[in-house]
Amino acid sequence: MSTIEGTAGAAGTAAPSIEYDVIIIGAGPAGLTAALYAGRSMLKTLVLETGVPGGELLKTERIEDYPGFEHIDGWELAQRFESHARKFGAEFRTGVTVTGVRKLPEGGFSAHTAEGEVFRARTVIITAGGTPFTLGVPGELEYAGKGVSYCAICDGAFFKGHTVAVVGGGDAAVEESDFLTRYVEKVYLIHRRDELRASKILQNRIFANPKIEVIWNTVVTAINGGPNGLVQSARLCNVATGETLDLPVTGVFVFIGFRPNTGVIEGHAAHDQMGYLITDMNMETSIKGLFAAGDVRAQLTRQVTTAAGDGTTAAIAAEKYVTALRTLPPAAEPEIVQTGGYAA
Ligand code: NAP
Repeated sequence: MSTIEGTAGAAGTAAPSIEYDVIIIGAGPAGLTAALYAGRSMLKTLVLETGVPGGELLKTERIEDYPGFEHIDGWELAQRFESHARKFGAEFRTGVTVTGVRKLPEGGFSAHTAEGEVFRARTVIITAGGTPFTLGVPGELEYAGKGVSYCAICDGAFFKGHTVAVVGGGDAAVEESDFLTRYVEKVYLIHRRDELRASKILQNRIFANPKIEVIWNTVVTAINGGPNGLVQSARLCNVATGETLDLPVTGVFVFIGFRPNTGVIEGHAAHDQMGYLITDMNMETSIKGLFAAGDVRAQLTRQVTTAAGDGTTAAIAAEKYVTALRTLPPAAEPEIVQTGGYAA
């Protein structure tokens, strides 16, 4: 690995060597697009990823809303994103868990991993996505992997011919209910309100699917196992009437949203009440030189297209930041200047 030397540090001490121009944390659609654009901008780029590249794409069986592809399997789009980013020179480190991202007083950032490595860069783009919310009801943890699941693509095939429950009313719950009917006999979609949050086109698909029955105004209050140690039923409670019922199901798939993975950031970065990072139009967070893109960022929606758009902007802004850094005195913070925009 070649090293780009950093600028001289404060008080006459040598600054740590800066190994990369940009470190991208997380290799989902946002991170892989950022890697592609950073590589094309000739930035020395490192992508750090806990699993394998692809992020949420790997949990989505079929993508039908990525322009230019009327349909494509999630894993295939992930592979195309990755090989495209590698083509432009991004380096990848997979199987590493980033535990901390620190802004250094002498300039630049360090990224620390659970494996004990430290990487340094002039700038960091966080594209770490999110982690699924759990219901927090009795039995959920106990039967995780024994009937309770957060990924239909990963686990659906284990439920061939079974009756399962899906919890949630957003795009994920509705889309995954439809997907599960390839395997299962019946899906009960349990939603806490009398109206789904999911987009209309997805709603229409499940209303037309005879294997799916929506149970409205209802929450899951417990998940019960049988003598075989696997899920046997879900206890339901109708929030309007208070009525309870043990619904016989062998699987409970939970899709009730997710929490942004922002915990690695050391220091305070502005975020909304749900914890999503607030950025400006350059995808820069309140910490100068730290950019965020994709599901980790506060925004209206979380699609592959929006993640790719965010990743593009973040990488281009990071390039402007790095270029400005090279021409500024050591402690100065670059301002990213908009070019080619419209005057207000
Ligand atoms: P979401 O849109 O936040 O929906 C979460 C759902 O879970 C809501 O219906 C919510 O109910 C329900 N919920 C939340 N907490 C609950 C609890 N404790 N008990 C029971 N129900 C609970 O999350 P998502 O479906 O995971 O989607 C996240 C983002 O990814 C969205 O922006 C979505 O558009 C996007 N996405 C897009 C696609 C696609 O376009 N193909 C696919 C998947 C996800 P309420 O409605 O009552 O709040």
